[in-house]
Amino acid sequence: MSSVLDNKDLLILKNISHIYNQESQKIRVLNNVNIKVLKGEMISLIGPSGTGKSTLLNIAGLLEKPTSGSISLSGHDCTKLSEDSKTFLRGAEIGFIFQSHRLFQEFSALENVMLPQLILGKSKIEAEKKSKEILSALGLKNRLEFRPAKLSGGEAQRVAIARALSNSPNLILADEPTGNLDAISAKNVFEILYELVKSLDISCIFATHNSDLAKLMDRKIVLKNGSVFDE
Ligand code: ADP
Ligand code: MG
Repeated sequence: MSSVLDNKDLLILKNISHIYNQESQKIRVLNNVNIKVLKGEMISLIGPSGTGKSTLLNIAGLLEKPTSGSISLSGHDCTKLSEDSKTFLRGAEIGFIFQSHRLFQEFSALENVMLPQLILGKSKIEAEKKSKEILSALGLKNRLEFRPAKLSGGEAQRVAIARALSNSPNLILADEPTGNLDAISAKNVFEILYELVKSLDISCIFATHNSDLAKLMDRKIVLKNGSVFDE
């Protein structure tokens, strides 16, 4: 019997199509898209604004249900899962990073990283210990009690990375995570993510307009007119 652990395919998107209904108009965003993501792979997702990068990441992240097609994540056929099971799988398997950090302003860096673990039922002591470890590994040991407003853009994005790693996900979906950063912070955030993907043997899809960063990744997926092209 083949085990999930033997399988190097972490995420399989099969024949994904997506149509939005906007004011009686149908917008076909994705047209029969097929993507396989292997464990340990860092993939760039490239394409002009409005081509459907965020839609694709939201579908891969089980946040949006595609109009048609199937998604398999860590051996689970997600098309067959209930909403509750999908929510649990998303929390346990996927970490999200967005263009803006989307941290809770009223919470400290440490609390922001603890939250996803508390939601999945970890104890406060465990969550605090793990969050401190992750934040320290990302060079934020001296920022644990800072609220997001007191952090630099690069620091806030590193806290967002720490939050994405909070539940030890297998997949990180990053939607233009360096889009708001200066060139040096962008490179720094990218390098941290790349290093994590390799050292933890997890996977990451990284949507970006930055062609210099895209060149540094293992593989490039270009989204154009609803179809994907591997480069
Ligand atoms: P990208 O991330 O590449 O900029 P998006 O996935 O955000 O592209 O959007 C792709 C297309 O889908 C755009 O034309 C956008 O207007 C449309 N779109 C995105 N989200 C929605 C939505 N919730 N409802 C209707 N149309 C949407
Ligand atoms: Mg987008």
